[in-house]
Amino acid sequence: MKSIIFIAPPAAGKGTHSMLVKEEYNIPSISTGDLLRAARNDNSSIGEEIRKAQDAGLLVADEIVIELLKQRLKQEDCYNGYILDGFPRNIEQAKAYDELLQEINKELGFVIYIDVDKELAKKRTLGRLSCSNCGSVYNDMIDESKPKNNGYCDKCNSALSKRSDDTEETFDIRFDTYIEQTKPLIDYYKDKGVLYTVDGSISKFITFEEIKKILNGGD
Ligand code: AMP
Repeated sequence: MKSIIFIAPPAAGKGTHSMLVKEEYNIPSISTGDLLRAARNDNSSIGEEIRKAQDAGLLVADEIVIELLKQRLKQEDCYNGYILDGFPRNIEQAKAYDELLQEINKELGFVIYIDVDKELAKKRTLGRLSCSNCGSVYNDMIDESKPKNNGYCDKCNSALSKRSDDTEETFDIRFDTYIEQTKPLIDYYKDKGVLYTVDGSISKFITFEEIKKILNGGD
């Protein structure tokens, strides 16, 4: 399986579809948001920088993200492909990733844009619940995505929690950052001939069927 990059506004379904692809194709899903959340409690200036940026809804400095990703991609489970959830977030990161791919002798693979409008992204952000144990994502505001047992993960039964940056105020900043910095990646990857678009506003099961068609057809 080739590697996969998901590009989408906050809460459009990057995490959900990364988990579904991971289960279907048995490749790891790497969320830079999760890598950063794990590093933010570090008692160092880097930990503090991550906390400040994440809590304000801003992007963490490119060098920090790229270094964490570089270390992660060197792990053995990435040899046969991986999913990038939340990276790259701007053109600089995309260029740094192109260089990294050359260094580790891998190809770009698929880039999938999940199209969702601002109103729906906001609704999903405010209802989102995550399992910090297994990474599963649920949503209190969307029937098909509610956990079966209120407040607990269907898969591992751990307590679900809200992310500290899933507030109304931070959402607006994150969405603006997405429009200004991340959306230009659509043209960047279109020009390279690797971009596919799926509709993220419909049932996640139908969107996932579209994703599977892309992955199976292009392999
Ligand atoms: P996510 O879990 O993808 O929604 O990301 C949550 C937050 O982590 C973002 O709002 C950023 O502060 C930070 N973050 C995640 N991925 C990146 C990235 N590729 N570059 C910079 N900051 C990131």
